[in-house]
Amino acid sequence: MAQAQTLLQLQDIELHMLRCQKRLNDIAALLADSRMTDAAQAHVAAVQQALSPLRAKSRNLELELQSTTQKLQATEAQLYSGKVKNPKEMQDMEQEIAALKRRRGQLEETLLEAMMAVEDQESELRTADATLQRLSAERQDANRDLTREQAQLQTQLAALRAERDAVAAGISAENLAKYNALRPRKNNQPVALLEAGSCSVCGVEQTLAITREAQLSQSLVTCLSCGRILVYKH
Ligand SMILES: [Zn+2]
Repeated sequence: MAQAQTLLQLQDIELHMLRCQKRLNDIAALLADSRMTDAAQAHVAAVQQALSPLRAKSRNLELELQSTTQKLQATEAQLYSGKVKNPKEMQDMEQEIAALKRRRGQLEETLLEAMMAVEDQESELRTADATLQRLSAERQDANRDLTREQAQLQTQLAALRAERDAVAAGISAENLAKYNALRPRKNNQPVALLEAGSCSVCGVEQTLAITREAQLSQSLVTCLSCGRILVYKH
């Protein structure tokens, strides 16, 4: 096979390798990207953190209500026991009972509000938990697919590397050096087709002499405009 043709074959393999490598890089980045689940996890933690003082407040109000009720019952029992005879003392107790009843009413109201706040926060925690579970499951599924694709690409890349080496072995050191020198400057595409007298990459029409030389393909011919190695297309 003519050298230019072989270089085109080499280029096709290397472009394919680059596509594989790019996808492998994308996959690595996707596998490492845990932003979504991290954010969901952080939200769960924040809701949990907000919930604990609300629960403590609710529990404290319950205890205070309990002790107020007990104190009220005890004072009432004492007042109606008939043991207290002093009118001033009885009046003080009646006033205390009234104050305890007011306090109990306030506590009941505040406790109800606190319990509702706890319920709201618990409901938000359930939602946040469900979101985290869903996102984690989705990520696990996606990562399983990506890992499978990664393994396939690695196998494919190894096969392409072997193929490239075999193809490169059929190219002279001089031509390979020329190809490799052009490659980084030509966006990994140092070889172009000469189609109907024009370069397939830059589109510039070539001279008759260039076209004839490319057709003979005894030596490497380059595009007069972009400098790419030309392969005559029959
Ligand atoms: Zn060109």
